[in-house]
Amino acid sequence: MSAEIWVFAEQRRGALAPVALELLTEGRVLAEKSGYTLCAVLLSAGDDDIPQELFRYGAEKVYRLADPALAEFNNDLYAPALWNLIEKEMPEIVLYGATAVGRTLAPTVAVMGYAGLTADCTELDFDTEKNILLQTRPAFGGNIMATITCENHRPQMATVRANVFKKEPLENPAGDEVVEVPVDTGGHGDRMKRVESVQEVAEDVDLNAAQFIVSGGRGVGKPENFKIIHELAEELEGAVGASRATVDAGWISHHHQVGQTGKTVCPVVYIACGISGAIQHLAGMQSSDVIIAINKDPNAPIFDVADFGLVGDLHEIVPEFTRQIREIKG
Ligand code: FAD
Repeated sequence: MSAEIWVFAEQRRGALAPVALELLTEGRVLAEKSGYTLCAVLLSAGDDDIPQELFRYGAEKVYRLADPALAEFNNDLYAPALWNLIEKEMPEIVLYGATAVGRTLAPTVAVMGYAGLTADCTELDFDTEKNILLQTRPAFGGNIMATITCENHRPQMATVRANVFKKEPLENPAGDEVVEVPVDTGGHGDRMKRVESVQEVAEDVDLNAAQFIVSGGRGVGKPENFKIIHELAEELEGAVGASRATVDAGWISHHHQVGQTGKTVCPVVYIACGISGAIQHLAGMQSSDVIIAINKDPNAPIFDVADFGLVGDLHEIVPEFTRQIREIKG
């Protein structure tokens, strides 16, 4: 058994999905703790420079399965090709982004190999005593965080949502070995036919790209009051987020929702206004660099994760915040 951690290097139209780089960054921590080799596995047409990018984010080795038929995702081609390689090399751990592709591919591969799979992890760790991957995700409707282990089968597999981990390049590439894996795509892939690929229309709210996010919760009081949240976000050139309570109440569209059933974000600064800090909300924002919480209840759980807390009425604090920023900007 080659003690390796693999990251599935998801690509679309020859460009790497950012979540693959986030997983490599976290994979470096797991590799350090376990002593395993960090590798990436890439299925593509083969006419790209993706391996170089993977090395810059920590891959010591890249397995490349190159074939024009693998240019775009087709589960009937990807799953057997990936499983054949896993069966041969038997890595200890395989990580996938919890994207539409990862969420289709990983379960298919898991069934092929009777491997365990934990979906939508929000935290990963390695138990150095038991030599086992610790996979944490919300469970029972998000009321608890469960740490799941896969003791008897290999590989241990997990999908992780985008933006849970930050991607950080290394100064120098971690490796340069590209293992070209022969792949036979004949006889597979007939069940699925790509009729057309449509580029997703960009939403007006780009929470994923925003450096600053100002989020409103039930404490905002009514839909019209979101105006002060929008004004602060605008001054900070950021985006507006929201808790599910406000989305369910119809105060703001679901595109703004942050959390377990909304978006996972990691801006430089996250300002939570009138948000209590339910575990399902925290699941979507707690990896933000700096968290500022404004809440009139000093015991609100949001203060447990906040770097800066302001106890008081958001209707006074938020406009004052905006006013002072305008003053500083002149
Ligand atoms: P509340 O919990 O009601 O908190 C309002 C806060 O505002 C309070 O802390 C109060 O002290 C404060 N406040 C009130 N007035 C003021 C004022 N004038 N000034 C300052 N502070 C004030 N939630 C999400 O957000 N995202 C999700 O993705 C999500 N997914 C879920 C999935 C499942 C399966 C389940 C069961 C729940 C999910 N939830 C999610 C809901 C979550 O459990 C909470 O109900 C929700 O986050 C609460 O929203 P809130 O903090 O805005 O409201």
